[in-house]
Amino acid sequence: LVSRKWKVNPTVIDFGDGLQVKEGELTLMAGPCSIENEEQVQKTIDHLVAQGVRFMRGGVFKPRSSPYSFRGLGLEGLKMFYELCRANGIKIVTEVMQVSQIAPMEPYTDVFQVGARNTQNFNLLDELGKVDKPVLLKRGISGTIDELLYSAEYIFSGGNEKLMLCERGIRTYETASRNTLDLNAIPILKEKTHLPVIVDPSHGIGIREYVEPMALAAIMAGADGIIYETHERPEEAASDGAQTLSFTESERMIRKMRRVFELK
Ligand code: PEP
Ligand code: MN
Repeated sequence: LVSRKWKVNPTVIDFGDGLQVKEGELTLMAGPCSIENEEQVQKTIDHLVAQGVRFMRGGVFKPRSSPYSFRGLGLEGLKMFYELCRANGIKIVTEVMQVSQIAPMEPYTDVFQVGARNTQNFNLLDELGKVDKPVLLKRGISGTIDELLYSAEYIFSGGNEKLMLCERGIRTYETASRNTLDLNAIPILKEKTHLPVIVDPSHGIGIREYVEPMALAAIMAGADGIIYETHERPEEAASDGAQTLSFTESERMIRKMRRVFELK
C-alpha cells in the first residue's frame, strides 16, 4: 500500500492552517533532542517562529543507551511542551516508545515519532495504525530500506495513512561518524513510495559541524523535509549536544537550505 505502484500521487499530510507536508515543499522540523524545561522550550519556539519553522521536535520519553542517562520529562513535560507550542502556532513531533504511551500522549501530540530502536516494534506499529494522528517512522539502526517500507506497511494497512518516513543514518563499520547517513536511500525511497521522505542529518552523522553539509546534500538528493537538533546552548543539552546546532548555526543552515531548495 505504501508503494508508488499502488498509489501514484504523492501523499500529502494536512495539519490545517494551511500547513502541509508534501512533495515539492521543504518542511523543516527542529528542536532539542530532549525537552528540558519551559524556558528552553520557549526560547526554541522564539527561534523557530523567527525562522518560519512550523514544527518543533523534542523527546520526553528518551531511548538512552545507558539507563543512567537523562530519560526525559515524561507526560508532564509533554503537556508543557504541547501547550507552549500550541500558543505559538507550532506543531510538535515527539517520540512514542511503547503502546501504553499512545493514549495518554495523543491529546498533546501532533506527530508521533517512532525511533530507530522501535522501527520493528510491530505491536507499536499496529497500534499507531489505528491512531488519527500523523506518524514519523524512522529507519532502524541497522534496517534495510525494504524493512523500513514493510514497517510503514504495518501502520498504513492499519488505516493510518498520515505517514512520513525518516532516514536517520544506519550503523556501518565506519567509526569516524556516529552513524552513516544513507543518502542513497532518498532517491530510492522517493521512487518506491508515495510517502514523504524526511531526513535527519543530526543523528545521521552525529557531529555538529557536518550537519549542515549533510542537510544540504539530502535536499539535493530529493528529501521532502529535514529534521534536526538545535538548542540555545548545545554544550549544556541534556542529550546529543555534540550533534546539536546553536541557534546561530541553525539560522545559517536554514538560509542555505532554502537557497539549495530553490535550485533543486
Ligand atoms: C531522536 O530523535 O532524538 C532519536 C532518539 O532518534 P533515533 O531514534 O533516530 O535515534
Ligand atoms: Mn537525539
